[in-house]
Amino acid sequence: MSAGRGRRRPPPTYPQVRINVSFPYKAPVSQALFDRAAAVTPGGVNSPVRAFGAVGGTPRFMVSGTGPYLTDADGREYVDLVCSWGPMILGHAHPGVQEAVRAAVARGTSFGTPGAGEVELAEEIVARVAPVEQVRLVSSGTEATMSAIRLARGFTGRAKVVKFAGCYHGHVDALLASAGSGVATFGLPDTPGVTGAQAGDTIVLPYNDLDAVRAAFAAHPEQIACVITEASPGNMGVVPPRPGFNQGLADLCRENGALYVSDEVMTGFRVSKAGWYGLDGVRPDLMTFGKVMGGGFPAAAFGGRADVMAALAPAGPVYQAGTLSGNPVATAAGVAQLRLLDDAAYETLDAVSAEVRTLVTEALAKEGVAHRLQTAGSMFSVFFTDQAVTDYATAKTQAVHRFTAFFHAMLAHGVYLPPSAFESWFVSTAHDGAAVERIAAALPAAARAAAAAAPGADA
Ligand SMILES: *Cc1c(COP(=O)(O)O)cnc(C)c1O
Repeated sequence: MSAGRGRRRPPPTYPQVRINVSFPYKAPVSQALFDRAAAVTPGGVNSPVRAFGAVGGTPRFMVSGTGPYLTDADGREYVDLVCSWGPMILGHAHPGVQEAVRAAVARGTSFGTPGAGEVELAEEIVARVAPVEQVRLVSSGTEATMSAIRLARGFTGRAKVVKFAGCYHGHVDALLASAGSGVATFGLPDTPGVTGAQAGDTIVLPYNDLDAVRAAFAAHPEQIACVITEASPGNMGVVPPRPGFNQGLADLCRENGALYVSDEVMTGFRVSKAGWYGLDGVRPDLMTFGKVMGGGFPAAAFGGRADVMAALAPAGPVYQAGTLSGNPVATAAGVAQLRLLDDAAYETLDAVSAEVRTLVTEALAKEGVAHRLQTAGSMFSVFFTDQAVTDYATAKTQAVHRFTAFFHAMLAHGVYLPPSAFESWFVSTAHDGAAVERIAAALPAAARAAAAAAPGADA
């Protein structure tokens, strides 16, 4: 007799999307691969958003990428506005990164010992991001945030963690908690498999609400180890912090003896040389990185104040480790990519982003489609709503069926967008005039499809 049985939650159901758009192009080879994949992999994918669950249709299986383009298994080419969710900031198959990887592979692919590449990557990060005095390399953003939370708890001797609804920090048990808005709601697990105990020390607050953070500190004196936030959220669509929000978090943490953890896995080395920190200058105690810093390979990191990082094994008592941490191929790719990301590269990214944003707004405005285009550095996303989106609750007011129609029309016209209305779009330095032209050519039909879309079951 299992005590937990009566309380077992139903398995999560992904929204059943009844799509009111036609799929102008079939993708038979992708569909065949998807069918094979579904036989051997749950849902046919290794990360859920890739399954097109939110938009319906056949997920495209990609076989190659070059510059701003991806080619799928059916031989169709797309302008890529996902860029592997950020890492391919120089475009696909960049010769500089590829050369570094080839050279690294030729020297051997893993040693399980310290190596020069990891020193170079750590030095590159420390040189770019002033609050990072010391850094530890790991293999995924999830590992980075998980380790940063453990370190914050170990360093402060406190248990509770504050996170914000709509912020994603990887699939860390304690951070897969969300709850309705409320001043200091205890986290309820978002998914079966995360126990109440694992999520019970997580306090979920509405984003951009400093009063809620103040109230949480008042309600739990000397119990909060850290506040973790996306430096500028991109995982509920792009919802930048209000002016003063991040500074307010840093101040409240300092006043209350908690650590301010800024998750820059998405924004780091993307929105400027020093990530979001380079734009707002608010000094975190700990930071996390991933995506861009791996150059398309699994490399991520957490770092920050030297006195906090000194608590980490083997220097200190907080355990953390990894067989492939600092892998020589991944660090070679990361170092090469970061060294190529000079001031001119960020100017290019900003310019391309501005160009695409203008085209998108013009096309949607022309068809009278209510929308908000929100921007954070070169990251941006479109919300199909006329309200300002400042947190997860307002993000969810958008007309998702319009995005679905827009997405499929763009796909049919050879532009690959994130297959969800709640994701940032990403550009690369390789998005040249020809790529932007193709986006411009696809937009009128997509804007018309968005205007004509009728709500399905998801609205
Ligand atoms: C992508 C992401 C993560 C998780 O990184 P993975 O490498 O997918 O584990 C964590 N935090 C933020 C802000 C992210 O965007």
